[in-house]
Amino acid sequence: ERQEKEALILVNEFAQQWFADQLYNTDEGKSIALSYFKSRGFRREVMDKFGLGYAPNARNGLLKAAVAAGYKEEQLDKLGLTRNKKDFFWDRVMFTIHNLSGKPIAFAGRILKKDVKAPKYVNSPESEIYYKSEVLYGLHQARQSVRKLDNVYMVEGYTDVISLHQNGIENVVATSGTSLTPGQARLVKRQTENVTLLYDGDKAGIKAALRGVDVLLLEGLNVRVVILPDGEDPDSYMQQVGTTAFQEFLEKKRRDFLFFKADLLLEEAGDDVAARSDAIRSSIATLALVEDPLKRAGYLQQFTGRLGLEESLLVNLVNQAIADRR
Ligand code: ATP
Ligand code: MN
Ligand code: MN
Ligand code: MN
Repeated sequence: ERQEKEALILVNEFAQQWFADQLYNTDEGKSIALSYFKSRGFRREVMDKFGLGYAPNARNGLLKAAVAAGYKEEQLDKLGLTRNKKDFFWDRVMFTIHNLSGKPIAFAGRILKKDVKAPKYVNSPESEIYYKSEVLYGLHQARQSVRKLDNVYMVEGYTDVISLHQNGIENVVATSGTSLTPGQARLVKRQTENVTLLYDGDKAGIKAALRGVDVLLLEGLNVRVVILPDGEDPDSYMQQVGTTAFQEFLEKKRRDFLFFKADLLLEEAGDDVAARSDAIRSSIATLALVEDPLKRAGYLQQFTGRLGLEESLLVNLVNQAIADRR
């Protein structure tokens, strides 16, 4: 089984090289894909580091090349690289998904045309070497920096990871196309206890951050959140303001999970008493996920100060929420 996995990784290594070759060494790739990446400001060094490539318009190029090189169609099918004697990825720019040791385990392809109805990103299906709920995009490239800085930024997209990395923020990973899972939280925890969620500044991003907070707290992580300006994602905002202003923004806007959630819900509630009570109760339910009593007490103390409510009232609510969970 181990041999089989290693064999599949070799197939993916071949595919990654082939996609890169199409990108850099063919006229089609250069004119369509390389120019696309350049227009997004990606430099060659970072493109190599993240294994970017191009899947051309023809739908059998990879299959033919791989078979000619001695790989089996059955293996390509297993990896989702081919299906019914055709390439699965075509007419897309390609992103390689690596495991923690930097081996290619899957791919994602982004559509180039804006108009078509096809999905913007297509990912490899799961395989013997790719369980998507157990993978964080960019963790291999981020690892050193994450350990050094003892913090990791979690973003939504592949291009967010690459763009930040290129601009000097290397402790960044993405959940690729899924909402954050407990497995991914555990994966992060082996590198650092401190996670900062940095999702897109839109409704979907805020909703995903609210969900992500709970998942991370349940694994015992310290969770902070930064909300980007409306309509921006980490990549677009970095391109707009540059590294220094971006870093300053992160420092200034970083909040503990509790105040991110409470402020958000309380703002929605306005001065309606019933809605405010729901907002507080819901924030307390999230606070109750913090296992460490010392941290919980610390957050709660700040929280009571802000709300101007009796501490004993909130302590009771937290204890109630903890009891409800058990
Ligand atoms: P770009 O900047 O190239 O438009 P993005 O990362 O900003 O990409 P979003 O639309 O913000 O794109 O999506 C965030 C992430 O969600 C993507 O990077 C991708 O991992 C995933 N995703 C988006 N659309 C799809 C899709 N149709 N199918 C699967 N995953 C998707
Ligand atoms: Mn988005
Ligand atoms: Mn984007
Ligand atoms: Mn985005």
